[in-house]
Amino acid sequence: MELEKTLLRKVGEAVTRFKMIRHGDRVAVALSGGKDSVTLLQALLLLQKRAPIDFTVCAFTVEQGKFLRPIEPLGQWLKEREISWTYFHDRPSLRLLDEQPDHGCDLCSRFRRRAVYQIARELGANVVAFGHTADDFCEAFLRNALFTGRLSALPPITYSSKKEFRLIRPLVFVNEELTSRFAGSLAAPVIPCGCSQRTGTVRRSLRDFFGELEKEHPHLKENMISAMGNIQPQRLLDTRYLNTEAAGMEEIGGAFPIITESSTD
Ligand code: SF4
Repeated sequence: MELEKTLLRKVGEAVTRFKMIRHGDRVAVALSGGKDSVTLLQALLLLQKRAPIDFTVCAFTVEQGKFLRPIEPLGQWLKEREISWTYFHDRPSLRLLDEQPDHGCDLCSRFRRRAVYQIARELGANVVAFGHTADDFCEAFLRNALFTGRLSALPPITYSSKKEFRLIRPLVFVNEELTSRFAGSLAAPVIPCGCSQRTGTVRRSLRDFFGELEKEHPHLKENMISAMGNIQPQRLLDTRYLNTEAAGMEEIGGAFPIITESSTD
């Protein structure tokens, strides 16, 4: 019960802060077969019962040929709970796997995105919810900073290119230690993806890096998540957010304070 309360508090905070779900929404949860998305689905179903607004929740899974075990136990588990679930064989993704077995994440996620929009459309959904956790946000933040030269993570809320769907990530404040325990308490079958077993990847290195640091600093990721919502652009190097003209300061009314040598610690 305590676990459920903590989860709902964190998901509720994200949903409210980023205005993720609104009255009349139909939310389609992307179930990947892992512990995170099943936790997300259950959290949204519980919130649906308590929220002061009306919205509906359904779930779907895209088959891209990467599951290591049959998906049927997950289907059975959902059926027993009367949860509406669509299992979608994405033929283009399966062909891609045949024709280019070593394709990278860019291609795979592009195919998945197209399939997700197609299913959401068929389900009459206007919102798609993804199970990215606080861990994913932190890893994306470090990966982008270290390997792509960008200071960014993942959008907690965004829209598909034609604004057809609102795309939300309500687990932004939930870490994987919590999703593991919660999914375990649900006894939900976990269907692993082949990619999760890969070694020697950047993702794996970042996970190991965090794991090592967290032995001494257990709240590291919470701090990183807080940092993403507490930006001090005047202490970064992007000139779009810096006032490089000291003479203009009075006119701007000090909105962009100039950092002096003594104030840079
Ligand atoms: S990790 Fe695997 S499933 Fe995920 S985007 Fe990359 S190739 Fe696709």
